[in-house]
Amino acid sequence: MIPLDEAWEHVRSRLRVLPAAAVPVADALGLVAAGPVVAGEPVPPFDNSAVDGFAVRSADVAAPGVELPVVGTVAAGSDGAIEVGPGRAVRIMTGAPMPPGADAVVMVEDSEFRTDRDPPAVRLLAAAEAGRHVRPAGDDLRPGDEVIAPGVALTEAHLGLLATLGHTEVEVVRRPRVGVLSTGDELVADGSPLRRGQIRDSNRLTLLACCRAAGFDAVDLGLAPDDDSAIERALRDGVGRCDAVLTSGGVSMGDYDYVKAVLDRIGDMRWMQVAIRPAKPFAFGLVDGVPVFGLPGNPVSSQVSFELFARPGVRLMGGHGPDLFRRSVRAETEEDLRRRPDGKVHFVRVRVTQDDRLGFRVRSAGQQGSHQVSAMASADGLAVLPDGAGAAAGDTVRVMLLR
Ligand code: AMP
Ligand code: MG
Repeated sequence: MIPLDEAWEHVRSRLRVLPAAAVPVADALGLVAAGPVVAGEPVPPFDNSAVDGFAVRSADVAAPGVELPVVGTVAAGSDGAIEVGPGRAVRIMTGAPMPPGADAVVMVEDSEFRTDRDPPAVRLLAAAEAGRHVRPAGDDLRPGDEVIAPGVALTEAHLGLLATLGHTEVEVVRRPRVGVLSTGDELVADGSPLRRGQIRDSNRLTLLACCRAAGFDAVDLGLAPDDDSAIERALRDGVGRCDAVLTSGGVSMGDYDYVKAVLDRIGDMRWMQVAIRPAKPFAFGLVDGVPVFGLPGNPVSSQVSFELFARPGVRLMGGHGPDLFRRSVRAETEEDLRRRPDGKVHFVRVRVTQDDRLGFRVRSAGQQGSHQVSAMASADGLAVLPDGAGAAAGDTVRVMLLR
């Protein structure tokens, strides 16, 4: 067995960041900026009002109680070309351009609009110094400002920022396309009744969903039987049209573990026994230069292996870093999480709660067998138990948050 760190380092050292491409801003959520984004125009583009109110000359409203005739209205979207002469006011709406002559706004809450006057007038209950409630052009961004640095993963707010600057496309690291292949003679994928010896293919759906949830494009490569040439065909198909391929099954010590054999023959592979539980068997290598992650077949193992190798690995290809892994937190366990020493790090499926006072807390999510999908489905974290006797109620453990 090799330590998890060594296995990960082997994977990491063989992965390369994908090339950059321009994509529509609307499609860029979660992708990583490939170059700097620089503001080409000021934001806001013009001096404008931060409130609904009255645009004035501050010199006219040095003290509260002034009454001024109102000579017009400027709304958001108008060009604001109504001159505010000395002793005059203009009604103004939030976001409307400051009319020429005005240098301050009194908010509508601090005014009494007098329609009984002709022309109508406003009594201003607050004084206003120059610049009051005015958002100057460029006070957020100026042309030439770097607004997004290379390597930043784009959030919802970044898409808004790009839209604010009038960008319709953004240069990003291409979204990784990840193929997912199931292997095994026992697998049934169409919901039909099971013959004795058969089970349902669950890994493919889960891993495809894991890929999508991680922000990758997921490509269904189907189900291959335990047959050398069928597996080779499926793998060649996968590496021909994907940036990375995930297989599940066929990498352990059985007589029909052909994935390992095929990958050995057609790829530059390394088969590993990683000192973790679940997910000990793991194969990784390159086929025609394309990374192939040979995940174990047991459903829980394949998901844990995805979290520890495939997800961070493909994130690296997508330009993410340095935070490739799920966030982990310290949590107090509410019950004993016992284990026996076996030279491995255990990843225990747990339910995580967060208490205002006590912080993160965990309980076992249920039965911990690598074939037992029910606990995996109700888990939202993996408690990391180093080799030893495990944790007792009240102990602090490290937990990888899965959501
Ligand atoms: P293997 O490594 O191929 O021997 O698979 C280990 C275990 O995982 C066996 O019990 C398989 O039946 C099971 N398994 C393999 N692939 C899948 C799959 N796609 N969905 C559900 N179980 C699977
Ligand atoms: Mg198998």
